[in-house]
Amino acid sequence: MAIIHWDAIICFVMSGIASMYILQQIDDKIAYSRARVSDINDIISDSTEVDRVTEEYLVAKSDVVKIRRESDILQGEIDVLTSKKSDCENRLYSGLVSNPKELRDLETQGVSLASRITELENKKIDLMISEEEKEKLEENCKLAMDDVIRSKEQLVFELNEELNVLKDGMLAYDAERDVALNSVDDVYLREYEGKKSKVGGTAVVLVVDGVCKGCGLMVATSNVQDARSGTKLVACDGCSRFLYVK
Ligand SMILES: [Zn+2]
Repeated sequence: MAIIHWDAIICFVMSGIASMYILQQIDDKIAYSRARVSDINDIISDSTEVDRVTEEYLVAKSDVVKIRRESDILQGEIDVLTSKKSDCENRLYSGLVSNPKELRDLETQGVSLASRITELENKKIDLMISEEEKEKLEENCKLAMDDVIRSKEQLVFELNEELNVLKDGMLAYDAERDVALNSVDDVYLREYEGKKSKVGGTAVVLVVDGVCKGCGLMVATSNVQDARSGTKLVACDGCSRFLYVK
């Protein structure tokens, strides 16, 4: 018949919950690092702001090209009409036309062409004003885009540095975890893993001043005493996590 050494069992249990708590702390650090790595990757791959300012710049640039094209077309029309007007005037004052009706027609045509040219020149002035405004907008959009791209590049550089630190840290935590696992009995490890998956990450929590740090609930004095003694696993009535008292 096996002889039960109660002191040894108590020590084993105490070391069990303490080891579980140490394992929990390492797992917390690993979980934090993984979450941060995931967040960083999301931030790095998020191009929403860069895409937005790039799109604004491209639209502004396209507007400038468009208005310059309109202006060129208008100038072409003005040139054609000016040439026609000049031909008309040359013929009118050439002395070659003596027919009164033709002279009147040429005069009327000249006045009409002059009026149309003035109209188009006014339109051209409006277009030039608008072109200047759109060029200014394009310049501002370019500055804003360059600024956002520069900031993103700086941010990505800093985040990549942080990623390297996190990855080194995670390697160290993995090694720490391997060591810590040696101190946790298989039965406790199963309890620990089961609780972790049940409550979502944190299986062991501290009791500080009689309060569970997992859910903030006051822990019954008898439970605090049991948790402190370490003679058995004590679960919080509020969040059902295992309680550890330092
Ligand atoms: Zn709790």
